Order: sequence, then structure tokens, then C-alpha cells
Amino acid sequence: MIETTGIRQREAWRDKVLPPVEQVRPGMWSIPVPMPGNPLRYVLVYALALDDGLALVDTGWDSEESWTALTDGIRATGHDVSDVRIAAITHLHPDHFGLVPRVQAASGAAVAMHAADAAFLAYRTPDALRRMKRESDTQLACLGAPEPVVDAGLIDLVRLAEGQTVDVMLGDGDTLDLPGWSLRAVWTPGHTPGHLCFVEETTEVVFTGDHVLPRISPNISVIPGQLPNPLDRYLASLRRTALMPDGETLPAHEYRFRGLAARARDLLHHHDARLDEIAAAVTDRPESTAWDVAAAISWSRPFADMNANLGRLAVRETYSHLLVLASGGRVAGDGPSPVRWSPAPTPVSVP
Ligand SMILES: [Zn+2]
Ligand SMILES: [Zn+2]
Repeated sequence: MIETTGIRQREAWRDKVLPPVEQVRPGMWSIPVPMPGNPLRYVLVYALALDDGLALVDTGWDSEESWTALTDGIRATGHDVSDVRIAAITHLHPDHFGLVPRVQAASGAAVAMHAADAAFLAYRTPDALRRMKRESDTQLACLGAPEPVVDAGLIDLVRLAEGQTVDVMLGDGDTLDLPGWSLRAVWTPGHTPGHLCFVEETTEVVFTGDHVLPRISPNISVIPGQLPNPLDRYLASLRRTALMPDGETLPAHEYRFRGLAARARDLLHHHDARLDEIAAAVTDRPESTAWDVAAAISWSRPFADMNANLGRLAVRETYSHLLVLASGGRVAGDGPSPVRWSPAPTPVSVP
């Protein structure tokens, strides 16, 4: 069981409104930054007071509304966005990294993140976009996705402003020694290749990004050119998460809570159940494509009602489970494209 500590955040989540800026420790605040048009509604950016300014954990979605909420939220802490000295980024997704260029332009802040996510920072060159679209199309066709879903398969790119760089490449266990704080990076690959959680050693609070959220399970998708077996990595990251301190969990969405190990175990059970459901679907329908399997299993909304974008997420998530089942010898894929999945043949034991 988890204990919700962000009571006002949970009420706001339930009432579909933005929670307030809150001081969560002396000199530490949560600042909700809206994500226009996204069902997750807001990302929780965290601000930590330094001797000479502020450190941020994540920045928010790149839109005018989000920028206004971030700068107003920082002002509510008694600071100004120009005071930001460093932005520690949990992962490259646009709701976390999106405002980095504007924060850098306003403050000259340094940016710290894991190299495996920094590697995907790209300028929107026509060549890079064409190559990513081609790889995405080929993968979705292999998964048996219908044409409208394949056609919608563009991958989001986030960018640094021209001439800007990632200043600090963080590896597992690296510590950002900030005046008054000690932020230890814990590499938790799965949701993205370079996802980081940050443990603040003096307060024992853990910033979990999207790796562990109190209510929903993060999307774990196979993206061409990224982790070859992301769910396997995610499950290993969750097992490590259960060993982290539990002063309080400060996630990037929904609300803060206590009980990180229990929540990590819940998520492991959720994926075990999902793996069993998918293995059973393959047993019932041998020679299924990943798309067929996605259509046969349960979702929070009917699969047939999903638009092309949701369908793409669903089939890539199904595929991540099929890869874990395949590496465990429970299912096997056959054929170049589309790949068809069947129960793995039982090995014949030689006396
Ligand atoms: Zn994310
Ligand atoms: Zn997110």
C-alpha cells in the first residue's frame, strides 16, 4: 500500500484542475506545469533553493501556457527563472525536457542528464526525420499494424537550442553536489534508455520522473534505435527501485506519496499479470501478429476505439511484452514481416 502525501495534488487530479505550487521541504517546491491537450494534464517540476539561485528537476512541456506556469510558479517560490543555475532532467520526453531551451536562454542554466537519452537529442533536419520515419514504418509493418497506424508513426524529437550542449552527463551513482543538497542519479532504463531517478540524500526524498507514478504504469514501448528489450530493462530497474530510500516519492505526474518499494512491487505484479494475459492470447491464437495480440487483450479503453496514435503506443507496448515472453522461452516469433507469434515449441529432452 502507498500512503498519499500530496493530498491537495490528489484532489486536484480527481477534480481535473491544476494543483497549487507547494513547498514540500524547506527550500524545495513542486511546481505543476500544464501539458495542453494531454490526458496526463500536468508535469510536476521541482525547484530546489541554492545559495545563489535555483536547481530544477525537469522543466515542462514547450508551450506558452506551460512557460507562463513555470515562470509564475518559480516566482511563487520567491525566485525568478533567470536564477536557475542547473536543470537536472529525468528523461528526454517533451513534457520533461521541452522547456530546456527557454530556461537556458533565460538563465544560462547548465543541463544535466544521462548520456543514453542525450544521444537522441537531434536537430529537426529533414534527413534525420526521414530516417526516423522509415525505421518507424518498417517496425510498425513488422508488428502487423494497419496502414493508417503505420502512416501516423512519427517519433517526437526534442531539441537543444542551436549552440547549446548538455553540460553534465550523469551516469548511475553520480552525485550532483549542490549547495545544501546532494542529488544522486540512479539509472532506471526502461521508459527511456537514459531515464534517471534522483535521490536527495539529505532528505531521502526520491524524484522518480515517469519511472514510478502512484496510479498509472508508464508506457514501455519498443522504439526503433532505442533499447532492444525495454520491458526487461524496466523490470530490472523496478527491482532496484524497491531498495531506494523512502523519505517521500516525488513523481513527475499525479501526486506525491510514501511507499516506493510497495509501488515498485505493484508495478512488477501488474507486468507479470500482463505477461500472462499476453501469453494466453498467443496460445489461443497461434500465428498472431503483435497487432492481433494487442486487439485481443484488455485495455483501459476499447482497442477498436483507439486513434492511430494510441494504437501505435498499444502495439509497441504489446511488442515489449512479447519480447520478454520470447526471451523467457514462452513464445516465438516467425517470419520477416509481419512477424507472427505462437507458443514456443516445448524443447525435446535428449536422454
Ligand atoms: Zn516519459
Ligand atoms: Zn512524463
